[in-house]
Amino acid sequence: MNHFEEYCTTFVQSIGSKEGAVSPSVTNSASFAYETPETAEGIFDGSIKKPLYSRMGNPTTAKLENIMAEMDGGIGAVATSSGMGATALATLSLLACGDEIISVGGLFGGTYALFSETLVRFGIKTHFFDVDALEEIENAINDNTKIIFLESVGNPNMRLPDITKIAHIADKAAIAFIVDNTITPLSIFPLKLGADIVVYSTTKIIAGNSSALGGCAVFRAINEGEDKFKSLRYKELEKFIKNTGKMALIPNAKKRALRDFGMSANAHASYQTMLGLETLALRMDRIIQSVEIVAQELDKNGINVNHPSLEKHPHHQRYLDMFSNGCGTLLTIDMGSKEKAFAFLNKTKLATITANIGDSRTLALHMASTIYRDFDAKEKEFLGITDGLIRISIGLENPQDIIKDFLESTK
Ligand SMILES: *Cc1c(COP(=O)(O)O)cnc(C)c1O
Repeated sequence: MNHFEEYCTTFVQSIGSKEGAVSPSVTNSASFAYETPETAEGIFDGSIKKPLYSRMGNPTTAKLENIMAEMDGGIGAVATSSGMGATALATLSLLACGDEIISVGGLFGGTYALFSETLVRFGIKTHFFDVDALEEIENAINDNTKIIFLESVGNPNMRLPDITKIAHIADKAAIAFIVDNTITPLSIFPLKLGADIVVYSTTKIIAGNSSALGGCAVFRAINEGEDKFKSLRYKELEKFIKNTGKMALIPNAKKRALRDFGMSANAHASYQTMLGLETLALRMDRIIQSVEIVAQELDKNGINVNHPSLEKHPHHQRYLDMFSNGCGTLLTIDMGSKEKAFAFLNKTKLATITANIGDSRTLALHMASTIYRDFDAKEKEFLGITDGLIRISIGLENPQDIIKDFLESTK
């Protein structure tokens, strides 16, 4: 059976209702009446499972969270106002001043800025490594290391990590391992490969059509016996483990991040995101095939394409072995100079020029003059940003139409 088939069934079946309104209802209320003081007390002490206040959770958002948790095999999930909200929630709920992060691989610009600038102001230091620098990663772990953070696919450097190996390093040292799986939902299941928390920008391929900003963090269960989170390194988690057992990472994230920083999802965005989820498996299946077709054809025509499906890519073998269900919607082309890159973008009739990725439409953006414009030469080199680099996110169009437009645009 095709890998994506199972999800074609589960998503539509779990999102639609068999009774009453078929489409999920949108609860547009910021607050909820408790009726009696006894119920209020029960809701606040957690013994009554009813909505408290929409910053802490909303019924429409809860439905999305349940489906996301099920998709990834997690014990639960927390939806957020954006992908950066999910990354902030997952990291800030574990970090304190003096802690360190080990960040592996090419990073999304916002995450890179969070780690390299903003968290530094709060006394949190991040060490950055290439996906293949496994020895250096192990050597960088010390008593202050709290998180190993990884993106499932380097955006936009297109380098692929060996997620299992990095999970093994994190496990051996008993460090929390967080994977940003925005680019590869359904293609990669990080919790099954050894991650503890998965974060998503649902704004991208999950919603899929630029209709809603959103994010989600999915958490694994705390083990009954030994667990890496039952250690002095994560002593702030102790009370949550004592009170809520295997669920502990969720109340920890809700109280330490959602309640205090307020990156909460809104019900309408959660609804739009669920509409996207209904067709995610179909869209992923089509696009990962189109990306390969477009990459091969552009490469054959002498365009400098970067995609791991090409034999020349340094991680081609890893792509075949570990990314057999694709590595998302992205490829990059290097036009050699900013002028040539701009000429291409001015000529293309098909691509939409925007900072988004994972849309129904094919999108393109010159990297150095936009997302990475504030970064210095050394940072750009580490992140793989060259003057002529254009990031392309392949959409649902006929791949032959994409190829035709791109070849005409490079003339
Ligand atoms: C877009 C993106 C984010 C941030 O998501 P927003 O929804 O824009 O906040 C994080 N990680 C990756 C890999 C992304 O592509």
